[in-house]
Amino acid sequence: MRYFPNSYRLVKPLHLVSDEYQPLNCKVCHKDILMALFDPNYGANIMKVYKWDQEKNINNIQDVYCACAYKCDEQIEASLNKAGLTSGWACISDLVIPIEFLRYVLAVMNRIRDGKDIYTDEAFKKQKAILIALAQRVIRATTEGERARFKELLSLPC
Ligand SMILES: [Zn+2]
Repeated sequence: MRYFPNSYRLVKPLHLVSDEYQPLNCKVCHKDILMALFDPNYGANIMKVYKWDQEKNINNIQDVYCACAYKCDEQIEASLNKAGLTSGWACISDLVIPIEFLRYVLAVMNRIRDGKDIYTDEAFKKQKAILIALAQRVIRATTEGERARFKELLSLPC
């Protein structure tokens, strides 16, 4: 939080999940989407790029990224269609609503468990990084005591 002006901290907080702020950048224009979302006229999407295996009814997910709505995501969309790939999207302004964030995380888990979504290693890494970045807008601030306990938990064997 120390990276943001006091006004943001008071009115529209972002809470660090790890020790450093994790930006969520648009794949096209590199704008920090988490900061841009404070403008109510701004929109962005999480995009999943996949090849649909019609026979098995499986989405082979090859990329997960974020992009500004319209201006940037449409640019990528056009190149995907040419490559025979499909994309699915989720609106990031909705995903920063706590219950909707949780619903999205559970949906990702369910689709993996049901064998409907198969991620490449790189795409899965990106999906997780996006969830971590989004969590900074969704979860409440961690107290000093909780931060210390978390460090303790990390040192314990699982
Ligand atoms: Zn953009």
